Amino acid sequence: MEAQTPPPGATALDLDAPTRRRLWEEVTDVLEGHRNDIAHRRIAPDSPPERVRQRFDRLDALAPMTPDAALRFVAEGLSEDQLHAAHPRYFGLFVPAPSDIGVIADALASGFNPQLASWGHAPFGVEAEQWVVRTLGTRLGYPVGEIEGTITSGGSEANLTGLLAALYHTWPDALTEGLQAVPRRPSIYLSVDAHDSWRKAARVSGLGESSLRWVPCDDRPRMDIEALRRCLAEDRRCGWTPFLVIATVGSTASGGVDPLPAIADVARRQGLWLHADAAWAGAAALTTRHREAVIGLPLSDSLTLDPHKWLSSPMGAGVYLSRRVGALRSAFSTTPRYLPAGPSDDPVTEPYQESLQWSRRFNGLKILMTLITAGWAGIEDAIHGNFVLADRLRRLLPDRGWRVLNRTPLPVVCFRDGRGNDARCAEEIVAAVNRQGLSWVSLARMPDGTAAIRACVANHRTTRHDVDILLHELDTARESARGPTGAVRGGRE
Ligand SMILES: *Cc1c(COP(=O)(O)O)cnc(C)c1O
Repeated sequence: MEAQTPPPGATALDLDAPTRRRLWEEVTDVLEGHRNDIAHRRIAPDSPPERVRQRFDRLDALAPMTPDAALRFVAEGLSEDQLHAAHPRYFGLFVPAPSDIGVIADALASGFNPQLASWGHAPFGVEAEQWVVRTLGTRLGYPVGEIEGTITSGGSEANLTGLLAALYHTWPDALTEGLQAVPRRPSIYLSVDAHDSWRKAARVSGLGESSLRWVPCDDRPRMDIEALRRCLAEDRRCGWTPFLVIATVGSTASGGVDPLPAIADVARRQGLWLHADAAWAGAAALTTRHREAVIGLPLSDSLTLDPHKWLSSPMGAGVYLSRRVGALRSAFSTTPRYLPAGPSDDPVTEPYQESLQWSRRFNGLKILMTLITAGWAGIEDAIHGNFVLADRLRRLLPDRGWRVLNRTPLPVVCFRDGRGNDARCAEEIVAAVNRQGLSWVSLARMPDGTAAIRACVANHRTTRHDVDILLHELDTARESARGPTGAVRGGRE
């Protein structure tokens, strides 16, 4: 390993100017190489834990290496031992290829490293994030001038923010008195297809998982509104105190869209806060051609949108948005002894007073730079392309003997072999496709508990050709999962 001596007059944390330039050029080469090669790589490399850990045996903080060697070490590790979700045939979770400008924005955010906790430290950064909040909120249909929000690390933090905003809006005394100021058994309503981050939010808030009341779905699947009404009535009779309803707008597993207008009506009549978890599918509401797929978002009190999913931001970038202006400040403001107050004649947003985070990375920059360079039209093109490709997949699967299990306009297709109904067969097929390394699909559990093969199209670099290769891979994997007699191995229906 090359030995490292700090340049004269500098500390080991500084690099001299020629080294910095050389490393930046090398980083550019590494990233360009990765971007250009990715479509030819195995998507999921074989990375046995023991071998991956062995990489780190070479490292020793007592014997530092040169920055060039460190860069090579990291570039090799990331290329060889990472599931390449940016690959155009990764049809897995919502991890699309990051927008190029988003990657550049992330480098700028690190280099300038503004402290976005307070306006005084980062006037540009805080106003930039407020612009993102207003721009997204307005486009999604919240009333102009009545939008507040905060950039989060992702959807989980945005969901937790929504739960806490609703909780403290409903019972302000709980801010000081804790849950003893809350009536007996506060309860939250969500569909059985909702995201599991709500379990964590329920635990972190102290309400506990039993406060989550899982409402059954219809066969699309989406929340059964009659079941919601029954559940609320029954719970009230049994001593629960409902305060929050969550509409999942684009479920992670199957793209189910809960009927927001009907849920909003129930929430309004019963005085409940309505949060729309539109983490990935909310992006469809930013388009003109596909906003119908996710109608009703402006009826929510607050919502979650994850730009690191379908807006192709690098991770992590989530957004919490709300039309209940003031709720964030009520839930999160404090008066620390060491931070200067902002200008009093022209009130500004103090992010640390309106969010869970304190020190804050400039995560809004990659959203802003993507929005201002692609524009709504560029974003719409990317999203529309995904809709078209998923429609093709949905159309061609049944012709080839597959049975599609979910009904959604969104680009997520859940399916099984149409000739058998065996969940084990779905598992085998997913494993076989992913082992080939040419395409990658995930295994989803439908609300009835059965397994399904799940393919979603969320990458703006995916083409029709990629979808056709996936179809071929699926057919081949099914043939090998079926025995030579054509019977499904494992046998059960
Ligand atoms: C991904 C997702 C989340 C969690 O978001 P993270 O950014 O992964 O924290 C929450 N809800 C839904 C519907 C999601 O798809």
